[in-house]
Amino acid sequence: MIAGSGRCFYHPDRSGIGICVECKRVICTECTTQFEGINRCATCLAARLAEAKKLIERNDWSAGSLFLALVSVTAIFGFVWGVAALFGR
Ligand SMILES: [Zn+2]
Ligand SMILES: [Zn+2]
Repeated sequence: MIAGSGRCFYHPDRSGIGICVECKRVICTECTTQFEGINRCATCLAARLAEAKKLIERNDWSAGSLFLALVSVTAIFGFVWGVAALFGR
């Protein structure tokens, strides 16, 4: 346990009301953020938001992977159809 827990990590004069899931620091009402229903301190939320932003910027792969998924599904169905046609007779 962190020494002096029960006090906000960022505000030693305030009592903590929660623990950040990322850094496990005790945080006060002002420092706690509810993002995706999870308690995080402002520092970790900022880091998480920056990460999410990076993911969004790299999001151009999603169209490509959707196309790839469609192609592979078509290929699998084509294969199954072919096998079924072979053994169907
Ligand atoms: Zn944190
Ligand atoms: Zn605080």
